[in-house]
Amino acid sequence: MSRILITSALPYINGIKHLGNLAGSMLPADVYARFMRARGHEVLYICATDEHGTPAELAAAKAGQDVKTYCDEQHLIQKAAGEAFGLSYDWFGRSSSAENRHLTQAFCEALDRNGLIEERTDKMVYSIDDGRFLPDRYVEGTCPHCKFEKARGDQCDNCGRLLDPTDLINPYSAVSGSRNLEVRDTKHLYLLQTKVEPQLRAWIESKTQWPQLAKSIAMKHLEEGLIDRGITRDLKWGVPVTKDGKPREGFENKVFYVWFDAPVEYIGATQEYFNAKGNADGWQSWWRLDQGAEDVTYVQFMGKDNVAFHTVSFPATIIGSNEPWKMVDTLKAFNWLNWYGGKFSTSMNRGVFMDQALELLPADYWRWYLISQSPEGSDSSFTWEQFQGAVNKDLADVLGNFANRILKFTESKFGGVVPEGGEAGPLEQKLYADLSALLAEATEAFEAMEMRKAAQAVRRIWVLGNEYLQEAAPWTAFKTDVERAGVIVRHGLNLVRLYAVLAQPLMPFAAQSIADCVGVDLPLDWPTTDAQAELSKLPAGATVRSGEVLFKKIDDDRVAEWAARFGGSETG
Ligand SMILES: [Zn+2]
Repeated sequence: MSRILITSALPYINGIKHLGNLAGSMLPADVYARFMRARGHEVLYICATDEHGTPAELAAAKAGQDVKTYCDEQHLIQKAAGEAFGLSYDWFGRSSSAENRHLTQAFCEALDRNGLIEERTDKMVYSIDDGRFLPDRYVEGTCPHCKFEKARGDQCDNCGRLLDPTDLINPYSAVSGSRNLEVRDTKHLYLLQTKVEPQLRAWIESKTQWPQLAKSIAMKHLEEGLIDRGITRDLKWGVPVTKDGKPREGFENKVFYVWFDAPVEYIGATQEYFNAKGNADGWQSWWRLDQGAEDVTYVQFMGKDNVAFHTVSFPATIIGSNEPWKMVDTLKAFNWLNWYGGKFSTSMNRGVFMDQALELLPADYWRWYLISQSPEGSDSSFTWEQFQGAVNKDLADVLGNFANRILKFTESKFGGVVPEGGEAGPLEQKLYADLSALLAEATEAFEAMEMRKAAQAVRRIWVLGNEYLQEAAPWTAFKTDVERAGVIVRHGLNLVRLYAVLAQPLMPFAAQSIADCVGVDLPLDWPTTDAQAELSKLPAGATVRSGEVLFKKIDDDRVAEWAARFGGSETG
């Protein structure tokens, strides 16, 4: 048994997240967490809302609330939405917590003591019409590298390069659209990343086991060359800047940059969790190498836009602190799940958001679709037709139908009891062999966090059950050889039990419904590759019942209605 620390990218506080956000970090992190728990590991799965920065300020102003009230409300909304989707966080924290404030300040002070912080006078963009300095992402303009015209001041969405707002050509205020901008002097703290570049490079290069997408993005940012980065901003809402535990002189009206404090919240949220349990030191064995974290395996899940911050910026902070912090072991990154080839957008009525999705269908329908179409190798696109196909074919026809058929047959011919007697024949021997191979494949894919492959392997196990039942045909055998029919039914019912076990990471609610049908309690351990043993776990004599239909099909009228309501036919 190992100790596995899992974090998914912190969802930003400015409103509920869409299906693409779910597919690109939180959901696969949850699937992996549930899988590792079923494998018997000790899992700590941490997430939190990312609450600082200008977008939060602006969203609060738009909602007519002060920022704190706005964040309090939005945090609860996001927490509830995550739970309704079955996200099994051990703790869902807040980057505005006291724990994170203290840690963030302590990191900066450690960096300062190590000579890695420098005060510099910056020239920053000031919007005269808005009466404020404009933080990076609120200056837009043309990217100096690829000439994309709507590049943000922090990063170009087109070429992915990290930018400074003053790099932009023809800049304008994203708050008001005003071009009435000027560059003013303002003092900021800089983290001297260039000084830790050799250690950072050595660390990244040692991470040979990182999945390809994360590794290639990290290497790209290294090859472009590290620069010293400003880690404070002219804002009110955020973590105050300190020196020796007191407000830092000249920085009274500034806070840390949201990208400096947000990754620290992985640690902060762990402290929140253990503080809430009344175990103030409990977090240390997960994060401090001098306090037992040496044996922790730390896995991060995130969208590709976050990779640079988690492979370069945050590790530079940790390395620079010269303190024994646990660093990420494996970083699983995702491409985009788009909406019909374009972006999800609230204002343009494009796409489904987490709360809306659950008004339409249960969480597991979405979970199955999003994992089986996971944007791993490249960007992928949601379409209603594909979604309908995944639900109707995979869930209703293949999984649901199998369970329903064998359970109903058991009820009508065997009194709802797992039949005893008889011996496995050649068809069962073939089933064992095929199933063993597929169980190995599924387990390997889950271990490797290859979500599409894992879902496909599980689906093939459902198909295998259908093929077995079709070929063995217990309804025919029953007429001439009841004992033989009993053998088949016993194997079929054991497959149903196995499907409940395999559904645990992917579809936790359906897993429970399936388990209820065969009278077993979850959680159950992940199966071994010994298929024969796995198919004898439901003993003869146990009671089963067919219950309600597990998955309902989506008809064409509903698809048409949803496409009209949420956008769908147009391409982005
Ligand atoms: Zn660009």
